[in-house]
Amino acid sequence: MIQPRLDETHDPSATSWVESANAADTDFPLANLPFGIFRHDFEERPRVGIAIGDRVLDCLAATRAGFFHGVDPAIRDALQSWTLNPLMALGRDDARAVRRVAHRLLSAGTTEGNRAQSLSADILASMSAIGMRVPAEIGDYSDFYASVFHATNVGSMFRPDNPLLPNYKWMPIGYHGRASSIVASGTPVRRPRGQSVASPEGPPSAGPSARMDYELEVGAFVARSNRQGDVIPLSSAEDHLFGLCLVNDWSARDLQQWEYQPLGPFLSKSFATTVSPWVVTLDALEPFRIPAFVRPSTDPAPLPYLNDATDRARGGFGITLEVWLRTAAMRAAGRPAERLSCGDFASMYWTLAQMLTHHASAGCNLQSGDLIASGTVSGPDAGSRGCLLELAWRGQAPVTLSTGETRAFLLDGDEITLRGWCEREGFRRIGFGECTGEVLPALA
Ligand code: CA
Repeated sequence: MIQPRLDETHDPSATSWVESANAADTDFPLANLPFGIFRHDFEERPRVGIAIGDRVLDCLAATRAGFFHGVDPAIRDALQSWTLNPLMALGRDDARAVRRVAHRLLSAGTTEGNRAQSLSADILASMSAIGMRVPAEIGDYSDFYASVFHATNVGSMFRPDNPLLPNYKWMPIGYHGRASSIVASGTPVRRPRGQSVASPEGPPSAGPSARMDYELEVGAFVARSNRQGDVIPLSSAEDHLFGLCLVNDWSARDLQQWEYQPLGPFLSKSFATTVSPWVVTLDALEPFRIPAFVRPSTDPAPLPYLNDATDRARGGFGITLEVWLRTAAMRAAGRPAERLSCGDFASMYWTLAQMLTHHASAGCNLQSGDLIASGTVSGPDAGSRGCLLELAWRGQAPVTLSTGETRAFLLDGDEITLRGWCEREGFRRIGFGECTGEVLPALA
């Protein structure tokens, strides 16, 4: 049994003077307090915010009002930045100090809470009145492939005789993604153009992708950096993980199939990646830590640098993850989005700590604000497949929607929304908010 590392911020009986934060189904109760970067419509400079119910604590305003006077000056500086990078660079202990102050000032019935409530017009913003941005200046983005169910499904489509390559169970497989095309939730995504083939040998033609897809993933932001050449031992990997978000790794399967050998995906995944704007800290996730995925006894044990008892005991996160689709026809008819799948991050073959340790193991320096994504989260059941490629099995079994429409791949006007949350008896439910994007037609 795991002993969670808890403090007063995890107390399920604590309530907030922000009423919407006390609703049972809110993603952002007092126990969550995720960080993000927002901007008022009328104001240019982005600010650090903390989500609370349907409001946002404006950290710049709260700092100026003196609420963070007790913390280290470096933390106050970080809270007045226009990205989360400085706070991420300070590390998890300092983020925890901010969390504790925010918890006190957003709590009902505390001295700080009463004062904050009296200043609420100055230090709170309404989520409906602000715009959210990508939460960090992401210098580098790497994407893994950590679901053995996803890897096996996809492998069996393209290599039926050899679905899982020999390296898969020995190391977290990944590729270097593209940071410049990461966008915040709500940003429309244009269908890419590129080369595709009708038969495996070609010749290719160029045009709009006909097989656009989403991928349901969890992202992790790097906290403290490691110096180039320095490795990150598995035992301290989580000191370098700031918090998690949702990631949609938009993919053009037809482009991918033609280009991915021998060096992996390139243009099929570099046109856009959507992230949810709120970074849920590892502290907020503490009650939801679970053992790492238990490998079948016939699988090899990880090599020593990827294997330790603590990671096995609590390296996982119990996060329920959903994908929702709203088509243009659904919007026109006033119908709500329809759920395509529901999975759990618990099913991942590799832990985030193992991914981070492996990433740095050859001497690569990971920098504060870098994004690491898990790879498509697919579970063992058909209902938990995290992309259309798997759900519609390479187009062979299109998904039928309640409108009578079918989908083998995404059509223009389709809006994909990812959701994620954690629940456990004795704790407040916390969520990630939404990661959403609509597919726009390709440019002519
Ligand atoms: Ca991916």
